[in-house]
Amino acid sequence: MTALPHRPTAATSAAAQDLNRWRVERHPRIDLGAAEAAAADLLSALGVDLTHESTAATPGRMARALADLLTPRDFDMTTFPNDEGYDELVLVQDIPVQSLCEHHVLPFVGVAHVGYLPGDRILGLSKLARTVEHHARGVQTQERLTQRIAEHLRTALGAQGVGVVVEAEHTCMSLRGARVPGSRTVTSALLGRLREDAASRAEFLALTRSGR
Ligand code: ZN
Repeated sequence: MTALPHRPTAATSAAAQDLNRWRVERHPRIDLGAAEAAAADLLSALGVDLTHESTAATPGRMARALADLLTPRDFDMTTFPNDEGYDELVLVQDIPVQSLCEHHVLPFVGVAHVGYLPGDRILGLSKLARTVEHHARGVQTQERLTQRIAEHLRTALGAQGVGVVVEAEHTCMSLRGARVPGSRTVTSALLGRLREDAASRAEFLALTRSGR
């Protein structure tokens, strides 16, 4: 999945151009038949009995469930001109995050806090959550996910600053291995003024810590 995370739609009308709509698409190549056969091999190799009536269809269900978690949902990244010249922090907290760690292919689950300092464009607030959800679908590290969300927003918005904090529990750590249920991994990506300007940075980090 090395394709650009977003690309502008061919402008079909002046209105679409004015709204600065970005069609956000990222489609992995998935071969469901091959995935189902491989899931059957994997489960059999791990000693799971697939001859039982209730498990016979498990490889297919496993393949489809994983394919679903790996397929980002497309959406329109609609932005609006910042006519009022709003230049304070816009922050949405506690956006749900569900993704798969690339080391164990087990879920990590938590929340993201996403903020930006507007430039010429502002974004519909629900699109911050859509951006998080879009990038969360896939197999990756929490660090890379955090960075991708931040870079996508900076590119799409031309924002003066972007900040993303992700807090998640990794089931590869809580269900096995170290077995530390409830422990959260916190990652952050700060770009532009939210990185360089000490006061903006402090404000963003204080606000994202307030719920803890
Ligand atoms: Zn892991």
